Amino acid sequence: MAFEGLTNKLQNAFRNLRGKGKISEADLRATMREIRLALLDADVNFSVVRDFVKKVQAKANGENVLEGLNPAQQIIKIVDDELTQMMGEETTSLIKAPKIPTIIMMVGLQGAGKTTTVGKLANRLKNDDNARPLLIAADVYRPAAIEQLQQIGNQINVPVFDEGTNVDPVKIVEDGLKQAKENHNDYVFIDTAGRLQIDEKLMKELQNIKEVANPTDILLVVDAMTGQNAVNTAEGFNDALDLTGVILTKLDGDTRGGAALSIKAVTGKPILYTGQGEKMNDLDVFHPDRMASRILG
Ligand code: GDP
Repeated sequence: MAFEGLTNKLQNAFRNLRGKGKISEADLRATMREIRLALLDADVNFSVVRDFVKKVQAKANGENVLEGLNPAQQIIKIVDDELTQMMGEETTSLIKAPKIPTIIMMVGLQGAGKTTTVGKLANRLKNDDNARPLLIAADVYRPAAIEQLQQIGNQINVPVFDEGTNVDPVKIVEDGLKQAKENHNDYVFIDTAGRLQIDEKLMKELQNIKEVANPTDILLVVDAMTGQNAVNTAEGFNDALDLTGVILTKLDGDTRGGAALSIKAVTGKPILYTGQGEKMNDLDVFHPDRMASRILG
């Protein structure tokens, strides 16, 4: 699992404080240094780590207000709270359109897990909310992408709208939305094209799709295994499209993963879900507080 290394290092950092009736300034400084290194080693964004350490230090130097906790527990509680804060504090849900359909535009780099995640989310809404989603195949650059979405649609029993690869994606989206309205689908997922890197042509196309679709949500699918690139990708997509949120995939992988956890702090956009595997039900709602507890071990 991601974050195992981080958990071990944080626990080591706290070990020196345990059993102490009072924590000296030197103890605190040593612990903060270890926490800082642990976060940097886990690939958390440098400036995010700096802010984090500053905040924890300020709180730790403040009045002892946490009754019933010994000094070590107090520091752990402060770190827990600040980690939660860094990842977004509250759990964020999808925005729901006041009238159907809620239109969810999914964007991301190629291989991030976008198409898989479209299936996972549609499947979740179908099972939990009895939703009737429609999936629109708007990635016309890779014929395999349309096939893959069709396969996923079959697997979860959700219809897929496609017009092959010779039609302008903007037109496909318009036609797909028309069909969704006729069929009273309550959710529409637009599976857009990805590239290996952010480029202007891709962003322009996505902006054009955004303009005609007027989506309720624009969710960026990011591969948590890509380190600092995950953060740069999120910044790039957010600048061009003003995302509503992020989905982190591949958290089941054996990665440091910390970079991805800086996304909220860097872009201001919340993580809504995490992908924990390749299967259709490997999608979890992201709870910053639970993730902080998991990281602290
Ligand atoms: P797209 O190019 O962004 O549409 O990416 P795909 O949906 O085709 O996914 C790329 C690969 O990542 C596929 O092999 C997926 O099965 C895999 N994948 C997607 N999400 C996850 C995840 O959360 N965990 C793991 N382990 N694999 C994932």
